Amino acid sequence: SYRKGGYHAVRIGDSFADGRYIAQSKLGWGQFSTVWLAYDTQSSKYVALKIQKSAPQFFEAALHEIEVLSAIATGDPSNMKYVIRLVDHFKHAGPNGQHLCMVLEFLGDSLLRLIKYNRYKGLELNKVRKICKCILIALDYLHGELGLIHTDLKPENILLYSTINPSKDPIRSAMTPILERPEGNQNSGIIINSIEKKLKQRARRAIARISERQASMGGVGVIPKPVRCLDGIDMRCKVVDFGSACWADRPIAEEIQTRQYRAPEVILQSGYSFPADMWSFACTAFELATGEMMFTPKTGQGFSEDEDHLASMMELLGKMPRKIATSGARSKDYFDRYGDLKRIRRLKYWSLDRLLVEKYKFSDSEACEFASFLCPILDFQPEKRPTAQQCLQHPWLNMDNQTHDEVMSESNVENINFRLSNLQIKLHK
Ligand code: ADP
Ligand code: MG
Repeated sequence: SYRKGGYHAVRIGDSFADGRYIAQSKLGWGQFSTVWLAYDTQSSKYVALKIQKSAPQFFEAALHEIEVLSAIATGDPSNMKYVIRLVDHFKHAGPNGQHLCMVLEFLGDSLLRLIKYNRYKGLELNKVRKICKCILIALDYLHGELGLIHTDLKPENILLYSTINPSKDPIRSAMTPILERPEGNQNSGIIINSIEKKLKQRARRAIARISERQASMGGVGVIPKPVRCLDGIDMRCKVVDFGSACWADRPIAEEIQTRQYRAPEVILQSGYSFPADMWSFACTAFELATGEMMFTPKTGQGFSEDEDHLASMMELLGKMPRKIATSGARSKDYFDRYGDLKRIRRLKYWSLDRLLVEKYKFSDSEACEFASFLCPILDFQPEKRPTAQQCLQHPWLNMDNQTHDEVMSESNVENINFRLSNLQIKLHK
């Protein structure tokens, strides 16, 4: 894809926007873009530089994303809503064409990666609660205040971040990230035990590299590293990737969402709005807690992926009310007039709490409480699903006895701790 209309090839040390940003290392890529860690010489901070492919349709898409991200930034000046922040944007002319570039705050690994680190076994419920609170605060802001539907909520599009300020505590911030990728280490069960040692080794190496880099790239201080899964790190995350987001009164696409997180009204084409994001949120919360996707539909003999998807939904959540099943533009493809699936006749009904106990080994009470949080969000009737605001009131979220205000004030506590430890270092000297 590195040809006319495609990605822009970047080399470490390349500069952008008249020398303001200097590329440091590649962070990731998507269908439309590559994303680079870059040093912002103006603010002396590290940022994520998202460089879009240059063909007109990608350029247009980036314009839309910038419009959405600008509205998000304007509506939340203090950056408190757990949504990615656009810092700047500009055009960059390269050999493959004109690329729109977005400068975003630099965040860490995605929740998908976090799930992998946990070897698909699910995270501790207290961590799941914390992550859910962040996502719900973000959704409440997007839906309630901006009227924006994300349309592609999933673990991959939620990124962890560190509340450790690299300029205040460079050593700890350089240490936070440093974990082996489990992919390269499938057979060893020692990853978790060796984390501490690796952390320290890699931090030392990272710090040693800084001076070289500083000299050659104009970077200052320790390069912040993404937050990986580490115990004791405050679980905090932000919603990213607004490439397909739309305003609720101006839906763009008919088919939205990544398959496994797709709401029934989207499959049936009965019209969608904010509740479609809530459905994806519930699927995401389930996946965080169990390590496995809630629905993994497949095409089978005599039925389509859509039909398998609808069947799995009903097996877990009960039969879809006839009125809902038959009211979409595509209902006739899947349902007969009685509201029964045409090609998958026998369903094996389960319930969410039984699934959690039997397959995922939740205790009865944990399963019951978690299911009472999720089930209302998985209502087939979108209008009946609770809003993000309503979900934030659910007792399950506050079972660790930590209120939203406490979560918000934790960063203050962290700051105080740093100041204390700095003071101790000074005293020691
Ligand atoms: P696309 O719209 O092309 O799918 P994304 O916005 O999803 O692009 O970004 C692609 C990848 O780049 C992400 O999956 C992630 O790994 C990385 N990335 C994106 N934004 C950031 C960021 N702000 N900080 C760190 N990494 C990021
Ligand atoms: Mg993406």
